[in-house]
Amino acid sequence: MSLHFSVLASGSTGNAFYVGTENQKLLVDAGLSGKQMERLLSEVQIDPNELDGILVTHEHSDHIKGLGIMARRYHLPIYANEKTWRAMEGYIGKVSLDQKFDFPMSSVQTFGDLDIESFGVSHDAAEPMFFVFRNGGKKVALVTDLGYVSERIKKTVENADAFIFESNHDVEMLRMGRYPWNIKRRILGDKGHVSNEDCALALTDIIGNDTKRIYLAHLSQDNNMKDLARMSVQNMLKDRGVPIGESIHLYDTDPTSATPIYTP
Ligand SMILES: [Zn+2]
Ligand SMILES: [Zn+2]
Repeated sequence: MSLHFSVLASGSTGNAFYVGTENQKLLVDAGLSGKQMERLLSEVQIDPNELDGILVTHEHSDHIKGLGIMARRYHLPIYANEKTWRAMEGYIGKVSLDQKFDFPMSSVQTFGDLDIESFGVSHDAAEPMFFVFRNGGKKVALVTDLGYVSERIKKTVENADAFIFESNHDVEMLRMGRYPWNIKRRILGDKGHVSNEDCALALTDIIGNDTKRIYLAHLSQDNNMKDLARMSVQNMLKDRGVPIGESIHLYDTDPTSATPIYTP
């Protein structure tokens, strides 16, 4: 099977992503309990014993909750940059030295037939980074947990066959909502999360001729709704002449269930 993936879970309660090729099967983040990780993988018929490793984007608990458990239970190597390793060390339990690997920011690492490029994002973690996956001429970009989408990021991810892109909150819902002001400021700030509107604006720039699917990801439970996110992004893209609903389709992600495996 060529490059394929599933968004196993996405949202502020826990994130996990699966990506695979002919000879590689990897997780990116394991932000739910070991039990839930196993259930999500079984939803898309992936046997955790067949996994080759886990990549880590950053040390927030919604990305590493089940990391240590999964790594120990299935003897999986973990790949993260040095600062992230240092920041998460105390939270993932004991991981043996031969399971710890460095994946520097702004680098390309090759896992069998899969090339993975990391890029840094502006987010309130030690050294948060996300990934572009390339195999057989296909490209998939995973971009969540960032305060804003820089020109550098746009260049790296542009014209992917599929985007998993943050659409965290509706700005009005967040402003009017019950969160204390300092939290609101964090989410809205440069190191917080991308709103529905900013998501659509960024997508307008990065969608290319190869783009077929966009998965709206990391939706806030309190400050967003699937329909609202989808409609906002869809309308803004349509207004800007993006052939949404024609050659490009929008997909939801869910905090508790996996999206079906997709092969671009
Ligand atoms: Zn997160
Ligand atoms: Zn985060």
